[in-house]
Amino acid sequence: MDIKNGFVDTVGNTPLIRINSFSEETGCEILGKAEFLNPGGSVKDRAALYIIEDAEAKGLLKPGGTVVEGTAGNTGIGLAHICNAKGYKCLIIIPETQSQEKIDTLRVLGAEVRTVPAVPYKNPNNYVKLSGRVAAEMDNAIWANQFDNLANRQAHYETTGPEMWTQTDGKIDAWVAATGTGGTFAGVSLFLKEKNPDVKCVVADPMGSGLYSYVKTGEIKPEGKSVTEGIGNSRITANMEDVPIDDAIQIDDPECLRVIYQLLKRDGLFMGGSVGINVGAAVALAKQMGPGHTIVTVLCDGGARYQSRLYDPQWLAAKGLSLP
Ligand code: PMP
Repeated sequence: MDIKNGFVDTVGNTPLIRINSFSEETGCEILGKAEFLNPGGSVKDRAALYIIEDAEAKGLLKPGGTVVEGTAGNTGIGLAHICNAKGYKCLIIIPETQSQEKIDTLRVLGAEVRTVPAVPYKNPNNYVKLSGRVAAEMDNAIWANQFDNLANRQAHYETTGPEMWTQTDGKIDAWVAATGTGGTFAGVSLFLKEKNPDVKCVVADPMGSGLYSYVKTGEIKPEGKSVTEGIGNSRITANMEDVPIDDAIQIDDPECLRVIYQLLKRDGLFMGGSVGINVGAAVALAKQMGPGHTIVTVLCDGGARYQSRLYDPQWLAAKGLSLP
């Protein structure tokens, strides 16, 4: 019998998908870990589960407690599912710039959702800082603190990385991914480098994020902007500290859109914006490395979460972007 024990047991063990169109174009094996197939629909289910189970194990989260988090949406969605499955309450603070689809989903799942203006991290009313203060003022509540809680990257060190290694029989030349909290990139990089120090670990970065310049020059200097959600950062989170980074690749929005529309039309994959940055960077890396290499990345979430944005020509036009 092969039966999963509820939602929690269904997180992870996602397929690794060969992206045929881009593999054929580049002569490399471009492989995407299908994180959109997690039961909550994104890569963040893994971090949400590890953060909650870590707090339970430490005795911080007790029956009937509340999980509080500041999130661009996917972590909140993962937390809200798991809170329902385990009998906790969930309070989410989200910047009002995030897609309506994610905000609506959080409410349907039963989370209390507070939308707040999007302000930089240095502002005390930044959604992440605000969520920490709200949690501290509540009884029987924990702050998930995904950016600086190392249970986040531990999820990827213990599950995502090992799954990729097994799925490829250890044949990985490079691993590339964009970072929000950095949990995915860090956990997988730390695991892969332990298995084989020659695996190239490359940060993919959208415009408006400071990590590309950080890797290239040591200075965090964001330039431009991006319509992608959940990725990019202007600080080094605890999850990204002491993590091996071999290089960085910057992908702009037109290239991101070209990639997600090709994934849709030629590969049948309906993907979110961060996947455009990830696969775009994998393709750029394939061109740098030359044919014959295996490059792994993550397909973080599906396109339905961004239907009214990335897949709406009018919305794109208002942002100065056009359908590829
Ligand atoms: N893509 C999407 C759509 C996300 O929501 C996130 C997380 N915010 C990421 C990528 C980045 O994942 P991580 O936080 O592990 O760096």
